[in-house]
Amino acid sequence: MRRMQVKLAKEMGFCFGVRRGVSQVERAAQERGPLQTLGSLVHNQQVVDRLGESGVKAVHDLDEVKGETVAIATHGVAREVIEEAKARGIEVIDVTCPYVKLIQEKARQMHEAGFQVVVFGDRGHTEVIGIVGWTKGRAIVVSAPEEISALPRAKKVGIVAQTTQSIDAYEKVISRLVARCLPRSIELRIHNTICNATALRQSAAVKLADSVDVMVVVGGKNSANTRRLAELCQAKGVPTHHVEDAGELQTSWFAACNTVGVTAGASTPDWVIDEVVKRLEAMEVAD
Ligand code: SF4
Repeated sequence: MRRMQVKLAKEMGFCFGVRRGVSQVERAAQERGPLQTLGSLVHNQQVVDRLGESGVKAVHDLDEVKGETVAIATHGVAREVIEEAKARGIEVIDVTCPYVKLIQEKARQMHEAGFQVVVFGDRGHTEVIGIVGWTKGRAIVVSAPEEISALPRAKKVGIVAQTTQSIDAYEKVISRLVARCLPRSIELRIHNTICNATALRQSAAVKLADSVDVMVVVGGKNSANTRRLAELCQAKGVPTHHVEDAGELQTSWFAACNTVGVTAGASTPDWVIDEVVKRLEAMEVAD
């Protein structure tokens, strides 16, 4: 039996938007008392649990809001939701990440300027639903390059991407979009709205995966950006395990491994990563 060398990705864990959102909501809860957030503030159960201890609870609908204040989570919501909250006399603390806000704004502007807005992203993801909401529900969501062939041909077409998409997949979507729409369009607008935090975490994870025997990706199973990190590492041909916390690690995964790489999604807090790293460093594995 022996121990493994644990290597960490250069960029991982909480991003700017999540760190900002969590601290804004924690501060608001300290100043005002118990607070509700519309949707989970971040897709990470440990963060949600810790916020719960400060009196912050997630609700899924405005109808469930009990107090006078509601916080909008980092992934954002449709404009109608904010307007509806205000119309009901509920004060809104909007901690939508500024990068997501920028996408909502670009989508709104293009829609109002007569563009058919296309959103490249995961259908059903909160961020994507919110962006579509800023176009009064008119934006078309495309989840894979093949879906471009079903797009209606419009005179003006503009595209944005969900912040957590991979740049490679977006490039493929865009080249198909240009091929399909350019012959009939007078204007195509392409916005690169993929978040730098995501790209940095992705390239650091892929680089690390090249130099280790096995990868551990830490983060919520419902976190899109964490799942994407796991997919990218797996695609490098390295055995990859996605865990939410140290308790899920299994010694059998690491038999005959000398090096293990660790990365984490943008919604994974430092304390959860630290526990995983400590457990891996202490783990005795079979030769
Ligand atoms: S990943 Fe980027 S867009 Fe998403 S919350 Fe973090 S900083 Fe904002």
